[in-house]
Amino acid sequence: MEVSRHPTKYLGEEYQRLVRESLNWQLRVLESASEPICTVDGKEVLMLCANNYLNLATHPKVVEATIDATRKYGAGAGSDRSISGNMFLHEELDRRLAKFKNAPASLTFQTGFMANEGLIPQLAGRGDLFVSDELNHGSIIDGVRLSRADRAIFKHKNIEDLTRVMEEAEKHDPPYKHVWIFTDGVFSMDGDLAPLPEIAKIAKEHGAGVYVDDAHGEGVLGEGGRGIVDHFKLGRDEVHAEMGTFSKAFGVVGGHITGNEDLRNFTYNKARSWLLSGAVPPGVAAACIAAIDVLETEPQHVRRVWENRNHLLDGFKDAGFDTGNGETPIIPVMCGKSKTSKDFADYLWTKGIFVLPIFYPMVARDKARLRVQLCTKHTTEQLDRTLEAFKEGGRKLGII
Ligand code: PMP
Repeated sequence: MEVSRHPTKYLGEEYQRLVRESLNWQLRVLESASEPICTVDGKEVLMLCANNYLNLATHPKVVEATIDATRKYGAGAGSDRSISGNMFLHEELDRRLAKFKNAPASLTFQTGFMANEGLIPQLAGRGDLFVSDELNHGSIIDGVRLSRADRAIFKHKNIEDLTRVMEEAEKHDPPYKHVWIFTDGVFSMDGDLAPLPEIAKIAKEHGAGVYVDDAHGEGVLGEGGRGIVDHFKLGRDEVHAEMGTFSKAFGVVGGHITGNEDLRNFTYNKARSWLLSGAVPPGVAAACIAAIDVLETEPQHVRRVWENRNHLLDGFKDAGFDTGNGETPIIPVMCGKSKTSKDFADYLWTKGIFVLPIFYPMVARDKARLRVQLCTKHTTEQLDRTLEAFKEGGRKLGII
């Protein structure tokens, strides 16, 4: 029988549509280590869009740890942690992280995305409710969608709206068995903080669990970079699951979940991404342990990233840029239209500055921006050069 349908033609058509509408990702290639001055696509640029907030990716102790462990224990763990790949280094990393977070227990994953996508759907099912901030990270959205629980979305950081959702939920018949509220700790597109104490209070009133994704708060917020739960001095009976990643301020890769022993035991028995996927290599686990060591013993990195952030933010404000509601080393520089943000990023690229334009559908159509991310090793001279280039570009494009 003749079939006119081609199984993959639509993939190319869809890609061409993305290109036509300027919605395709343009992959750049990093040809050096992720440092403030690096080589990208053959060009030397100042890096202003890395998550490597504390520059631990190239910290000698972290690098040495990964080399050492790889020499001793090999390039791979040989299996999933659930089978025979659960090395003592993974267990030590779990313990060290729990201690760092002042919590009873942690469980580390291969990535943060896998932690959210694997654990969240297991937390609840039919007859339960998930409540989620509208701007939560895609991995929370996917985790929530994979569950059979009912879903409710509340307006970004809006406690009044969350209260409305929770009161509405109380009327559900039959009553929901389990209710969880999900929020990012630091929202990655705006750099703003979740009102976690208020969320925890409402959750308590309704007997709901609180799950926070602190991917961008770790290493930056709280004492010595312990994260948002420490920042707000909340207890483990107020925030029940604190999720995070080793791929940002810790400078390596890997996800994690922190809470009580029940959460840990439940997670490694239920989260399918944990159970059914290979363990991170020993070199990765050792590097993550070393990164925790550095955070515990070298507080200057956290201090310095804040100094850099404050310096640049003040400069942006003095120059008249709209920097949105950023409260962390993620600074959004608002541009309005998608095209303006792209033109601005292209202009800065010609000046040797690598910064990411964020536009629809990642943010609303009229809220396109450049997302500037600071790190510890940026020098004041580099930041002042950045400011000058932003001012020139901002004037050219009529943003300031
Ligand atoms: N949550 C948030 C808020 C993130 O920004 C990210 C990374 N983009 C993740 C989760 C996923 O973390 P990972 O890189 O470890 O998969």
